[in-house]
Amino acid sequence: DLRGRKAVITGSTSGIGLAFAEGLAEMGVDITLNGFGDKDEIEENRARIAGEHGVDVRYDGADMTKPQEIRDLITGAEAAHGRIDILINNAGIQKVAPIDEYDDDTWDRIIAINLTSNYHTIKAALPGMKKRKFGRIVNVASAHGLIASPFKSAYNSAKHGVVGLTKTVALEAAEYGVTCNAICPGFVLTPLLEAQMKDNAKARNMSEEEVKAKLLNDAHATKEFITYENLIGLLVYLCSNAGSGATGYPYAVDGGWTAH
Ligand code: NAD
Repeated sequence: DLRGRKAVITGSTSGIGLAFAEGLAEMGVDITLNGFGDKDEIEENRARIAGEHGVDVRYDGADMTKPQEIRDLITGAEAAHGRIDILINNAGIQKVAPIDEYDDDTWDRIIAINLTSNYHTIKAALPGMKKRKFGRIVNVASAHGLIASPFKSAYNSAKHGVVGLTKTVALEAAEYGVTCNAICPGFVLTPLLEAQMKDNAKARNMSEEEVKAKLLNDAHATKEFITYENLIGLLVYLCSNAGSGATGYPYAVDGGWTAH
């Protein structure tokens, strides 16, 4: 029942967001892509997803640290596709360092992109969803929205904030046919995680391979990384008509990490 729905996915030029765009396009959803990266590569992905799945795929390069650009992303998508049914807040960055050495600008940037951008997209998209009595908001938080690891003060704070925002919006929107949930992945091998491994190795005085093994061993009971497929199944459920009763919850897909 997703065919013909219109989705905006922030941070969808790479990793989880790009996989979510492909997953929803496969179900017949028209997509607005967003994020940074190489212009040719973005255009290649846009054209490929549209061509393979016969859906409309557009791109908006709004910077998630800039409230006006975020508002324009939402009004632009509404103008181009007529409405937004599905909003996925996925853009995110990470920086691993001890808090007493943490860089202030990096703190502000992580809070802006990983948390405050969700506030701005939701604020702009919710009125249309309420008016049409349908909406699915999915915020990509993290296992770090539920539990913490050392050296990720800004990220953990932002992601715990996303979970709080998710619950609040769910309560405010519930009677308007709009759900708001968070997906909380464990470790997924994306460009973000690869970069984080380098910093983590430095902060822990270990090699990258040792860090990878330690992270998986300590965190995932499955000892396996989370795959895009693991996440897309849940995303499709939350966005479908059948998902109407599920709202205000941070769904962990983390190999059993938060069960410890
Ligand atoms: P990624 O680096 O592959 O993708 C991040 C995306 O965000 C890219 O498209 C990038 O261009 C975009 N982005 C970054 N800054 C932006 C800005 N200012 N404005 C607009 N777009 C911007 O990372 P990923 O691992 O796919 O992460 C996606 C989300 O999943 C993030 O919110 C991340 O915190 C979360 N997450 C990742 C993991 C993991 O293990 N990889 C685990 C849990 C949660």
